[in-house]
Amino acid sequence: MKITAVTSHDIRFPTSRDLDGSDAMNPDPDYSAAYVILRADNGLAGHGFTFTIGRGNEICRAAIDALVPFVIGQSIDDLGEFARRLTHDSQIRWLGPEKGVVHLAAAALINAAWDLAAKAAGKPVWQLLADMTPQQVTDLVDWRYLSDALTPAEAIDLLEAARPGRDDRIALLREHGYPAYTTSPGWLGYSDEKLVRLAGEAVADGYTLIKLKVGDNLEDDIRRLRLARGAVGDSVRIAVDANQRWDVAQAVEWMTALAPYRPWWIEEPTSPDDVLGHAAIRRQLRPAGIRVATGEHVQNRIVFKQLLQADAVDVVQIDACRVAGVNENVAILLLAAKYGRPVCPHAGGVGLCELVQHLSVFDFVAVSGSLQDRTIEYVDHLHEHFLDPVVIRNGAYQLPTAPGFSAEIRPETLHRFAYPDGPAWA
Ligand SMILES: [Mg+2]
Repeated sequence: MKITAVTSHDIRFPTSRDLDGSDAMNPDPDYSAAYVILRADNGLAGHGFTFTIGRGNEICRAAIDALVPFVIGQSIDDLGEFARRLTHDSQIRWLGPEKGVVHLAAAALINAAWDLAAKAAGKPVWQLLADMTPQQVTDLVDWRYLSDALTPAEAIDLLEAARPGRDDRIALLREHGYPAYTTSPGWLGYSDEKLVRLAGEAVADGYTLIKLKVGDNLEDDIRRLRLARGAVGDSVRIAVDANQRWDVAQAVEWMTALAPYRPWWIEEPTSPDDVLGHAAIRRQLRPAGIRVATGEHVQNRIVFKQLLQADAVDVVQIDACRVAGVNENVAILLLAAKYGRPVCPHAGGVGLCELVQHLSVFDFVAVSGSLQDRTIEYVDHLHEHFLDPVVIRNGAYQLPTAPGFSAEIRPETLHRFAYPDGPAWA
């Protein structure tokens, strides 16, 4: 199967009109996708995207277009080679080695190739991954820069060790799904009344963890956390997310003030590039029992490696579209397993839930083998635009069954929300 044509699309949803997704650093996001369709010589099509929050989505699309020559005429029989071709070109690499816009663009194309490969195999992506041998999984990874933390031989040992019990774990997911948590009550732009109502609804819907945005105003955060704690009771966990708002000392001070309400983790307390800063925050918040989580803006496997080596994170938050797609996320899952840290993916936006559920299922079935303290973020926005949307029941993602990566957006949506000329914007 070879790729014969690629089309790119700039798709934006006017979510800022209702302050959906608002937080301390991103007050008015318009959830967007730089979207690609790969057409293969056998008539199949693979769909993929990367996620942005509006302005600049056209830059991602231009970066995708710059990578198209590395895709046309290529086979997807070897997805490791396919992915490496997109991140190893010396001239494009100069724009930012495995980071930034070109890396987001690589993610869109690599994710689309996985959708295509899974459709050709007649399997959902999680199963295509789980059915691979340890050697095949290891061959997906770009091992450059990882050997001081994890070698291919160690990865094979990890994957071999996780083989017993996999059928039982798949059966468990078929019955109960994969645990989810919800961020829907906690957007910073929502009123106290809306927060309390949505927090109560989340508990009624079966969630055992909710998340609140913090970091704009300490008095407001104390009040909102107190209200949320009152609404959900003592047995439900509440995580908080500062979206990179603080310096190190400020993060410690702010979270110490919120500690009486027992936050489960503080997410993105500071810059995602600041490995040593995260380590310092984690060290100082440990006595209060507050975990440190990050990853949705961590640019590649190398920074994840350092966060783990420096003991800087408790919770590894992969994102399906930030790093170079499935392949680089497989590397990060293996690193997290080596260091014994749970992976709790970032999701929401547009389509991130649809994609990342496959990676968590693969993690449970074939890598970590554990659900302990693991949960996937869920936000109830924009799923109606997908042909194979996530299904949440009793606070859990139900196991995807359709072939592909659940990535395909409805054709009428691609038309209506095309930016800037689609009917939703014109
Ligand atoms: Mg976040």
